[in-house]
Amino acid sequence: MIMAERSKKFGRGANECWRCGRKQGLIRKYGLYICRQCFREVASELGFKKYW
Ligand SMILES: [Zn+2]
Repeated sequence: MIMAERSKKFGRGANECWRCGRKQGLIRKYGLYICRQCFREVASELGFKKYW
């Protein structure tokens, strides 16, 4: 359901985390639009660490 979650950002603005709606610590690099806290969780889930 990753794709469905990501599509939320288009409906509610791109300046907040698409996962939790937080604006603090938002990472907009690479079109992620996710806060640091969620990024850590998502990254560990998906194995993003490879790419960072
Ligand atoms: Zn978040």
